[in-house]
Amino acid sequence: MSTKSVEEIKKESRHLRGQIVETLKSDVSHFEEAEYQLLKYHGTYQQDDRDLRNERKKAGLDKAWSFMVRSKIPGGELSADQYLMHDKMADDLANHTLRITTRQGFQVHGILKGSLKECIARICNSGLTTWGACGDVVRNTMSASSPLHDAAHLDALKLAQEINDATLPKSRAFSEIWLDGQKLDLNSSATANQEADSLYGELYLPRKFKIAIAVPPRNDVDVFSNDIGFICHAPHGVVEGYNIYVGGGFGMSHGQLQTRPFLSQPLGYVTRAHCVEAALAIITTQRDFGNRAERKLARLKYLVQSRGIEWFRTEVQSRMKGQVEPLKDIKLDGVSDMLGWHEQGDGKWFCGVFVSEGRIKDTDQVQYRQALRKIAETFQPRIRLTANCNLILCDIQPRDRAAIDQILRQHGIADPAGLTEARRMAHACVALPTCGLSLAESERVFPQVMNGIDAILRELNLAEEPILFRMSGCPNGCSRPYNADISFVGRGPNKYAFFIGGSHRGDRLVGLEEKTVLLDEIPAKVRPYLETYARERKPSERFSDFWARTRTNGEAPSPEQFHIELEERAKRLAEAGEKPTAQA
Ligand code: SF4
Repeated sequence: MSTKSVEEIKKESRHLRGQIVETLKSDVSHFEEAEYQLLKYHGTYQQDDRDLRNERKKAGLDKAWSFMVRSKIPGGELSADQYLMHDKMADDLANHTLRITTRQGFQVHGILKGSLKECIARICNSGLTTWGACGDVVRNTMSASSPLHDAAHLDALKLAQEINDATLPKSRAFSEIWLDGQKLDLNSSATANQEADSLYGELYLPRKFKIAIAVPPRNDVDVFSNDIGFICHAPHGVVEGYNIYVGGGFGMSHGQLQTRPFLSQPLGYVTRAHCVEAALAIITTQRDFGNRAERKLARLKYLVQSRGIEWFRTEVQSRMKGQVEPLKDIKLDGVSDMLGWHEQGDGKWFCGVFVSEGRIKDTDQVQYRQALRKIAETFQPRIRLTANCNLILCDIQPRDRAAIDQILRQHGIADPAGLTEARRMAHACVALPTCGLSLAESERVFPQVMNGIDAILRELNLAEEPILFRMSGCPNGCSRPYNADISFVGRGPNKYAFFIGGSHRGDRLVGLEEKTVLLDEIPAKVRPYLETYARERKPSERFSDFWARTRTNGEAPSPEQFHIELEERAKRLAEAGEKPTAQA
């Protein structure tokens, strides 16, 4: 195993090339550490099937290696043809499922090494890319997912595309390796294929970097959990500018007490003309001052925390022509998606489809893939992926609504009107079997957990209350559990830490309520909290507000709450020659 740091690997990689081509051409089963790190920038993680690990080890076999490939889709917007390309690829090259990510992208799992090049090439040939979907660069930029034809929503999507274009890495490595040297056709800047990279240099950023754009009153992108959060200011229906928040992020690391989840802090307000400039000023501040000596403390949130928001604002301002002004008064409400049917505002309709845990697959009970394929082929809708891992069918003619409803219901896809509001908002991370870091199940058990909670909510007449439940398979918190009303974070097989006290608006962090609860106990553990709320709340009072009025949060989430489990995981990964990086 290489002992090189990620910073050294980047530096020696010749702009993210390393030995990727050589390894692809060779007959080895998997990539070594340096290329494993570099592959992330190209949009893929090397994984192995953890369900098969022990069995294969006993049989003296190598791990069952495969790859997850992530499409980068700014604002989660794709065409019907791009959707159908992913759908076909799920059968041709992957494990017959598609996973909507928490950043409005798609992941396909189970790609074999021999198919990796074809998979990435297919995505690029459809007009999308995987370049920069992972790695120490700006990840997929999110924007409010509702396809409403108003100035704010249209502008949020445009801004996401502008930021994406301005932050795509410039190295030719990607096109050389995956596209046989073809130029990327992404409608991005004309300089996209120039090797020199004035934004990233040769070391790229100290860590991953996440940007989201919200349109009030909805916080469907979970804006405060991002490195940069933009919130649209559009008085009288005209976009004038954006409030900007900086330094959010939820990951934490064993043995590093300073690592913990943070919500972002207010930087200020910037007029629309200066939004991309502001994003670049923030990114380059992190590039130049972020911690490259200690990777666990390298996210922007630690720079903002250690230097203070005043210092950070002054530094960003010094890199801009536009002014960072005091925040505008903008209020956000819940993080939910607009599910079901809604008018777009241009004579057409959109239909938000609830996708259980973001997994598009066919089972005996529900056939998401068949239904969505049929709808995409027949009606050619534009599609938006949401940060809550749902999917929106856009640009539907009024006359086609009934036929689309019929296809959805024929394939067992729930009418969101029949779900509890908690279920419509709830989400779990991927975890087992593909995530090398998971300590407990998440995606595969969450529907059952929510069935139990749903029954209690209905019994207590709380079915329409926006109570945000989330689950993660480990403290990394990919499903954003640390600002939910109630969340469960895996600490071992069937064991979870129980957190409570965040907010369905995504603007408050949880506290630890109970160190360990068993999977089967979760609905029973939640019941007394819901009963007290149902009994003692004021009329129309939300659970988040009831909690804030009547309770004090427990200890803030910290790595020490998972001390033993994280230590054991670190040992396990070291024995396996792996580094502790999320690889969902
Ligand atoms: Fe879930 Fe992310 Fe942890 Fe994997 S790293 S178990 S996807 S929270």
